Amino acid sequence: MKLDIKNLTLAQLQAEFRKIELPAFRARQVFRWLWLKGVHDWKKMSDISKVLRTQFDEHYRIGQLKIKKRKGSASQGAVKHIFELEDGNSIESVWLKDGPRRTVCVSTQVGCSLGCTFCRTAQMGFKRNLLAGEIAGQVLAVSKGQAERITNVVFMGMGEPFLNYDSTLDAARILNTDLGAKIGARKITISTVGITEGIRRLAQEPEQFKLAVSLNAADQKTRERLMPIARRYPLTELMQAVRDYTVVTNKRVTFEYVLIRGVNDRRKDANNLILLLQGVPCKINLIPFNPFPETEFEASKDADIARFSKWIMPHLPAVMVRKSLGANILAGCGQLAIGNEAKA
Ligand code: SF4
Repeated sequence: MKLDIKNLTLAQLQAEFRKIELPAFRARQVFRWLWLKGVHDWKKMSDISKVLRTQFDEHYRIGQLKIKKRKGSASQGAVKHIFELEDGNSIESVWLKDGPRRTVCVSTQVGCSLGCTFCRTAQMGFKRNLLAGEIAGQVLAVSKGQAERITNVVFMGMGEPFLNYDSTLDAARILNTDLGAKIGARKITISTVGITEGIRRLAQEPEQFKLAVSLNAADQKTRERLMPIARRYPLTELMQAVRDYTVVTNKRVTFEYVLIRGVNDRRKDANNLILLLQGVPCKINLIPFNPFPETEFEASKDADIARFSKWIMPHLPAVMVRKSLGANILAGCGQLAIGNEAKA
């Protein structure tokens, strides 16, 4: 089987071309065609000789990502994209407009194995990890349909990025490269449910990619109810990894906190959160829960959200209540899932 060069970072492509004795500029040329111009056909790479294009075609292939469906519109602030992968599986990404930001939320796995009880993706189960080209390719494909430049990428779609660490990081590097989408490293956020090995690895990476932790509860019992993986990565261990991360990188961490009525939006939950995050350089995003047809949970009311943020704001740095973009088209946080569209 031919190697799919869409999965290679620029450095990996240069190393690959060295094997067939091609200079580094050839890799830059091909990378630009793939990731800046979005060309997937060797024949269209007009500044490469026909002989060389034939040689490339014999050795390599260029993976494709097909948009099957779009839902929503730019004027509504969110567009959900459903992609078909070459093996027939489907994934979703969401384009979001928020102030000056144009963000793409990408998936890193087909489905997810972690079973968070407030998340619709969990109901799909896990099918497979995505390849780097399939992850970065979502941004390329989404940007083709948008007039405005993509400014931010968040790895918060289907799947847990740190359970697919290498492909996630390679995708982030592809998107960060000057010859491609040119998304600044600080505009790329990788979000985890709290896989501590991943947090520790990310702290050692040379790039300035940002870390977000999906926290959702500040006590072990509630966290286990919402996120069964919390049994394997208890809060104390998670918070130690986060603190170490902030020391090693000198960067803040973003905590995502999805507010669910009567589960994690009470006074005692706010108090636990204040205690847990004392002294941690961080930002807190409060996100209204996005209900979906099969869920047992209810969203916190606007007044509950306002009250919760009022409780924590004086004690914690940078608390933001995020708008729930895309909820009406099941493109909000925790709502992505293929296979249940009809029910929805
Ligand atoms: S919230 Fe993230 S980690 Fe949890 S089940 Fe959903 S996709 Fe998986």
